[in-house]
Amino acid sequence: MKIDSLIVKGIDAKDNPNHAVVPPIFLATTYVQNDLHGFQSFAYARGGNPTRNNLENLFSKIEQADYSYAFASGMAAVSAVFSLFQSGDKILLNNNVYGGTYRYASNLFKDRGIAYELVHDFNELKAEDLDDDVAALYLETPSNPLLRVADIQRLAAIAHERGKLLIVDNTFLTAYYQNPLALGADIVLYSATKYLSGHADVIAGFVATNREEVAQKLKFLQNTLGGILSPTDSYALIRGIKTLSVRLDRQEENTNKIIKFFSSHPGIEQLYYPGSYSQEEKKIQDRQSSGHGSVISVCLASDYDQDQFVAALSLFDLAVSLGGVESLICQPATMTHESFDEKLQEKIGITKGLLRLAIGIENADDLLDDLAQALEKAKR
Ligand SMILES: *Cc1c(COP(=O)(O)O)cnc(C)c1O
Repeated sequence: MKIDSLIVKGIDAKDNPNHAVVPPIFLATTYVQNDLHGFQSFAYARGGNPTRNNLENLFSKIEQADYSYAFASGMAAVSAVFSLFQSGDKILLNNNVYGGTYRYASNLFKDRGIAYELVHDFNELKAEDLDDDVAALYLETPSNPLLRVADIQRLAAIAHERGKLLIVDNTFLTAYYQNPLALGADIVLYSATKYLSGHADVIAGFVATNREEVAQKLKFLQNTLGGILSPTDSYALIRGIKTLSVRLDRQEENTNKIIKFFSSHPGIEQLYYPGSYSQEEKKIQDRQSSGHGSVISVCLASDYDQDQFVAALSLFDLAVSLGGVESLICQPATMTHESFDEKLQEKIGITKGLLRLAIGIENADDLLDDLAQALEKAKR
């Protein structure tokens, strides 16, 4: 089955109790055992819960992964992955990584004896740049909020040549557009809060891998750190994932129209989308992904007032996050990437003038009209 069928039919109704079309939510925290010599497959629900297992199995199919683990948040997934490393290890991160991931690295790695380095451009990294202490490359492509693109296949090759792991946060595109494991990544992780859930009502995360030894450690960490996804949230995700393809199709269609509109508008000085940075990144993006998603960033021209623009919008709510059906706008420097100090923000290009838009599924003409009138009002 293709992914747009799997998201709907990946849980077979015949496997559900009474052949229910959707799986039930199992709330029980503990399960009765047969006798002292024969335990059944479920015991205590932190270790395994039928609803969560259903979701994890569905996710494995979507992601073409042998093993998947659902977590209580994207950051719980990131934490579990970072817990794979130990004192003396170094992790390379792309410089405009998710703010919470950077907050973890910059505050907690030191106490654990782990080093990190921000990589300005992963596409310039060579195998010989990878020192012995580097344990893993951790990247988001496209990145947040500058939508830079890194070549997953090439980075997997150089990571493996030097015996390192490649970890990809695939939150922005999902397996519908991009499959890091198939491109050679060792671990793919997600904030499922965003596109996978799709409705801004569940906080969740995933980690998936095809490597058995990594999977065993992740399973141990999921149970031991305890940041599991609840049965009700697991169910909400099973439901949300069913519409992933239609939501993303519509969101990308809207995004393409907005990119076109912004490209020729005098009020837009800079426009960022996956592949906008260079021809080379565009080529990589087209090669490794079947779509570029629906997050873009802009800087307004100097004769346009940013506060006026944001205030005049009526369909784009001023809020962090992305991936829901509703359109949102935010200022990364103050709202999502405040864990980067000002100097670092400036160096990377996360200025106060940068606005990030997450495009929803509303009518495209309504969105375009709203942006046009807000730009008109913002003109000084
Ligand atoms: C939101 C986000 C996270 C963190 O996920 P939560 O579900 O908010 O904990 C990690 N990575 C990326 C790219 C994100 O957008």
